[in-house]
Amino acid sequence: MADASRGVPLLDVNRDNRPHREEFIEALTEVVDSGRFLFGPDVTALENEIATYCQVDNAVGCASGSDALLLPLMALGIGPGDEVIVPSFTFFASVSCITRLGATPVFADICPDTFNIDPEAIRAAITSRTRAIIPVHLFGQCVQIDRICQIAGDRDIPVIEDAAQAIGAAYHSRPAGSWGSVGCFSFYPTKNLGGMGDGGMMTATDAGTADRLRLFAGHGMRPRYYHQVVGINSRLDTFQAAVLRVKLRHLSDAVQDRQTNAERYSRLLKDSHLVAADQVVLPTVDPNAFHVWNQYSIRVGEGRRDALRAYMSERGIGSEIYYPVPMHQQECFTHLDFDRDALAETERASQEILNLPIFPSLTEAEQSRVVDCISGFYAAGAKAAA
Ligand SMILES: *Cc1c(COP(=O)(O)O)cnc(C)c1O
Repeated sequence: MADASRGVPLLDVNRDNRPHREEFIEALTEVVDSGRFLFGPDVTALENEIATYCQVDNAVGCASGSDALLLPLMALGIGPGDEVIVPSFTFFASVSCITRLGATPVFADICPDTFNIDPEAIRAAITSRTRAIIPVHLFGQCVQIDRICQIAGDRDIPVIEDAAQAIGAAYHSRPAGSWGSVGCFSFYPTKNLGGMGDGGMMTATDAGTADRLRLFAGHGMRPRYYHQVVGINSRLDTFQAAVLRVKLRHLSDAVQDRQTNAERYSRLLKDSHLVAADQVVLPTVDPNAFHVWNQYSIRVGEGRRDALRAYMSERGIGSEIYYPVPMHQQECFTHLDFDRDALAETERASQEILNLPIFPSLTEAEQSRVVDCISGFYAAGAKAAA
C-alpha cells in the first residue's frame, strides 16, 4: 500500500545509465588520454557501427538531430521559392530546417491511428515547387515509408527521413534511415540512443550524398582553408561518440524492454476496462512496422486529457504532451499560409494525446501505479457524476 502512493517519473536517465557506468568511465578515460576530442577514432567507429545497424553504406556524424535535418536540405540547395512537405504534428526541428533556408514548409495531415504523416496527404500536397519530403517516424514507429518513397520516386523528389525518435525501427524489416536519400538521427539524451549531451547522425546509401553532407558539415572546406560551398560547423565530438558506442551495444536490449513495457501497458489498460472511445484509446501498431517505442501515446477522449494529466501530476505520476501545439499553430509560423481544415487530425491529436512513462528500466510495479492512477481518475469522475 505504501508503494501505491509513490510517484513514477516520466523518465529516469540515471536509472537507465547506471548499469553501464563502468563502461562509460573506461571509454571516456580513453578519450581524455588520447587528447583527440574532435575527429577521434570513436567518431569514425560509431559512424561505421550506425551504418551497419541501419543497413546503409554511409553515416556522417553531426552536432545534433536538428543539424542532421538541416544539412541534407543545404546539400540539396533548397532555398526561397522551394516547398518541402512535412507533418505539422512533430517536433519543431523537422520544420525549422526548412524555414531557416528560406524555403516553405507545406504541412500534410497525419493518420489518426499511428499519428504519422498520411501518404495520401503528401500526394495531395505535391506541387511543381516541391523539392523534398520529410516524413517523421514519430514515437519510434515508421511511417508508411514504402508508399511515401513510391510517391516521391515517381516524381524524383528526395525523401529525407526524420528518424530522430526511431533508431532501430523498421518497416517491412528494412530499417528507418535506409529508405530515403538521407536518414536523420538525434542522440539527444531522451532519444532511444541517447548521449550525454547533443549529437546527431545522417545515414545515406549513396556515397556521393554522404560526401556532400560531410562537406557541408565541415564549413564546406576542402582542402583545408579552401571553401567550396558555405557550410556550417556541425561536428559530433569524441566524448559523445565514446558514450554512444557503449549505449549502442545495449540498444537492442533497451528496445526489447520498451516493447515489453508497451505490451504491458496495453494489457493493464485493457484489464482495467479503461479502453473505450470516450476514455483511453491505445496506440496502434502498424503490422508492417517494428516499433521501438520512444513514446507510448494514448488518446484521452471527451476533452478530459488536461484534467487527467493534472490528476496524475498531483499524485506524482509523470506524463507529457507531445505535442501540445502543432507547427502550423506556432507563433513563429503565423505568416505562413496553410489550410487548417486539411490538418484536422493533427489538431485533434494535439488535444487528445498523452504520453506515459516508457523508459527501459521502468518496472512493472510502476506501470501498475500509472494505470491505477488513470483508473482512479475515471472512478472519481463517475462518482462525481452520480
Ligand atoms: C529530437 C528531435 C529532433 C531534433 O534533435 P536534436 O538532437 O534535439 O536537435 C528532430 N526531429 C524530431 C522528430 C525529434 O524528436
